[in-house]
Amino acid sequence: MLTRSGRVVVVGGGITGASVAYHLARAGLKDVLLLEKGELTSGSTHHAAGLVTQLNPSATMMAFRRYSVALYDALGVFNAVGSVRIASSEGTFKDLRRAVSRAAALGLDAELIGPAEVLEKLPFASPQSLYGGVWIDSDGYVDPHIATYAVADAARQLGVQIRTHVRVTGIELGAAHEVKTVLTADGRIDADHVVNAGGVWAPQLAEMVGGRLASVPVEHQHVLMQAVAGEEVPRGSPCWRDTDNLVYGKDEAGGMLIGGYEHDPVARWLDGVPWEHSASPVESDMDRFAPLLQGAIARFPFLDRAGVIRLLCHPDAMTPDGNPLLGPLPGTPGFWVAAGLSLNGFGGAGGIGRALAEWITEGDPGIDINPYRAGRFGSVYDDPSYTGACAREAYRYYYRLRYPLDTAELGRGRRASPLQGRLQELGAVFGAKNGWERADHFEPGSGWRRSGADQRAFGWARPPWFDRVASEHAAFRERVGIIDMTSFGKLDVSGPGALALLERVCDSAVDRPVGSVVYTQFLNRHGGIVADLTVTRIEQDRFRVITGAATVDSDRGWLELNSGAEDDDVQIDDVSDELAVIGIWGPQARRTLAAVTGDDVSDDALRFRTAVIVDIGGAGVLAQRITYVGELGYELYVPRRWAVQVWDRLIAAGERYGVAPGGYRALESLRLEKGYRYFGTDLTASDTPFESGLGFCVAFDKGEFNGRAALAAPGAATPARRLRTLTVGDEEYLTIYGGEAVRRGDAVVGRIRSCGYGHTVRRNIALASVPAELEEGDALTVDVFGQRVPAVVQCDSLYDPEGTRIRG
Ligand SMILES: Cc1cc2nc3c(=O)[nH]c(=O)nc-3n(C[C@H](O)[C@H](O)[C@H](O)COP(=O)(O)OP(=O)(O)OC[C@H]3O[C@@H](n4cnc5c(N)ncnc54)[C@H](O)[C@@H]3O)c2cc1C
Repeated sequence: MLTRSGRVVVVGGGITGASVAYHLARAGLKDVLLLEKGELTSGSTHHAAGLVTQLNPSATMMAFRRYSVALYDALGVFNAVGSVRIASSEGTFKDLRRAVSRAAALGLDAELIGPAEVLEKLPFASPQSLYGGVWIDSDGYVDPHIATYAVADAARQLGVQIRTHVRVTGIELGAAHEVKTVLTADGRIDADHVVNAGGVWAPQLAEMVGGRLASVPVEHQHVLMQAVAGEEVPRGSPCWRDTDNLVYGKDEAGGMLIGGYEHDPVARWLDGVPWEHSASPVESDMDRFAPLLQGAIARFPFLDRAGVIRLLCHPDAMTPDGNPLLGPLPGTPGFWVAAGLSLNGFGGAGGIGRALAEWITEGDPGIDINPYRAGRFGSVYDDPSYTGACAREAYRYYYRLRYPLDTAELGRGRRASPLQGRLQELGAVFGAKNGWERADHFEPGSGWRRSGADQRAFGWARPPWFDRVASEHAAFRERVGIIDMTSFGKLDVSGPGALALLERVCDSAVDRPVGSVVYTQFLNRHGGIVADLTVTRIEQDRFRVITGAATVDSDRGWLELNSGAEDDDVQIDDVSDELAVIGIWGPQARRTLAAVTGDDVSDDALRFRTAVIVDIGGAGVLAQRITYVGELGYELYVPRRWAVQVWDRLIAAGERYGVAPGGYRALESLRLEKGYRYFGTDLTASDTPFESGLGFCVAFDKGEFNGRAALAAPGAATPARRLRTLTVGDEEYLTIYGGEAVRRGDAVVGRIRSCGYGHTVRRNIALASVPAELEEGDALTVDVFGQRVPAVVQCDSLYDPEGTRIRG
């Protein structure tokens, strides 16, 4: 959708709305109106401490923050005092080594410094429990009011109209559910586009158009501490973050402003934020803040003698994953979202404003915004208490070290597979994805349990379940493994126009005979991958799209966004909850399946990449012969009420072949050995199929599809970078988790996307995007906690590269 003219109404005069309005005007839009129900800075913006660090594990968020800093700097409102991220524990110092390596891989200059250098930067800090830190020279802070007014003034100079004390009370839609008119207490305003930058009120604004936004207000507190005579903190001291002590701060009139992330944060106004609420703080709670203050005192002992000037409390809009909600709201043309800033408003707003403006005016955000799409949270998040639990979890781990192998602690047990009881009996250790409880691995003989912050106990080391996962893995390679994959996202796309819509959004040819299973991607117009999935033609006009547990709502949104008036005859139904999915793979998978059905499942009757309905004990089961583990086998789509019946029959039939259940950790090891890609890490909107080694999916000869022109451009099929399989180190398990810098000599040439241990090949396997000229056998190194560990470029598939096992 390209908008070069017409009126855009931005709702919300916080830092986000101001930035969106400014960038829209800068992109050339002449009729931009910002409406604010109070004065500018009447929401969370009013209370921000204003610190901005550019360090972030996400490439997109880091880019947003770097741009925000550049914007504030250009407007003369950025105080570039630098920042120190302090490690008060060995574990955090190790993590900072990883962070520096990840930053280097993304091009940010972050320097690992020792305790003495930390004390040089922050002489008033205590040397106790001081392990070092990360110094970022270009970090700093803004005054939230000065910065917001500066951005708003710059917007005004470019022609943006700003009207304060005007509350948006409704939005009228047209027949195609498109934005028509903004209703305010002062009257009606026609609009071609509305941008919802309503902060904690954003979900209520979305409700006006029948939309849903998953964010809840979560309280945040900071305290202003008096200066102590003789120990004044010099003006212009660096900002600091001491994540072990859960606190951050900066100098303020010789004293300090200190904020922190409580372990047990409080969500408020789950049923809606009062419209009358404005810039006033909410009631603060010193009891809750006291442990954080103690942490700050431990790091800066002079604070013990400093009086408290004021403890301030206000919520910010927190989303379930702590990331913003951005872009068009599927199903409502002209309604855009820039909300859910999740305590990252000043860091995020500059880059977000630019991306939104590009999206509205050019039809594309110009950066990989896929993980932040506004419609990524589905109906499970309609329950505010669940959304609140997830948001509180995201807040809890804002500073607290989240080990990469850990899973969520709050909001558990929300969605259960019908096989949950069976998995529990087998000693499942459950992780969670999009509300689903899923078996990560099994501890037979032990009671089942939910994992959580387990890695905190074993730290940066080989996990205690390593051997268990190895044995689950072996079952799939050597005998037959069985796995509950009910959490798969499942969308039925049907109707006379279903094929045309899918052909337009997929890079592969979907027009194949009924029963075909097509592995494909959705692409944006640059050819970037925005979804990775399979499409099965169930009937002539009915297709089943199978996608990840956490991407189903995004993918559905993508289909809706790409549906035009001509797609009126297409229906999209989410059937994820209606069907259980049982995966069986291994050399004995066919025999196991044949033993439970009278239907023919021979190679001729059920070929690779096809699906048929088979009868298992009275249940009609869609058996799809496809694999994510590299062995002969099937995904079985079973009506929910038949799931236990089918599972039990498979287990009984597989007994003679040594069937064993596996979990998601074994699956990860199996797919890495095959070089199968994982969407979100290996495949992102910044990667084309050619860069990802998926050029075989691209069907140029099928006619027009999203991204085709970009992929057909000269050179696109021979990109400069390519996702490659590396082995890192030797047989010994290595503590690599993703994001680490990959080097050729001293130069950083890429970063690890996903990685893990391949139990059959007995190697640490990493997928990394590296220069395309690298050849098999070329030597590289990977930063592993500050050490450069040798790595070798390998062929894509370390296990059975010819695929003979799949053919069975
Ligand atoms: C205590 C605290 C400290 C923080 N410290 C930092 C920090 O150091 N660094 C950092 O980057 N971030 C920080 N944050 C987070 C940051 O303040 C927020 O993420 C950011 O301000 C959100 O900005 P926003 O514009 O999205 O929302 P808001 O500032 O809440 O703005 C939304 C605006 O929309 C208006 N509005 C809502 N509904 C309507 C309607 N119907 N009609 C018209 N107007 C409407 C509201 O009045 C409000 O002014 C902090 C937050 C808090 C609470």
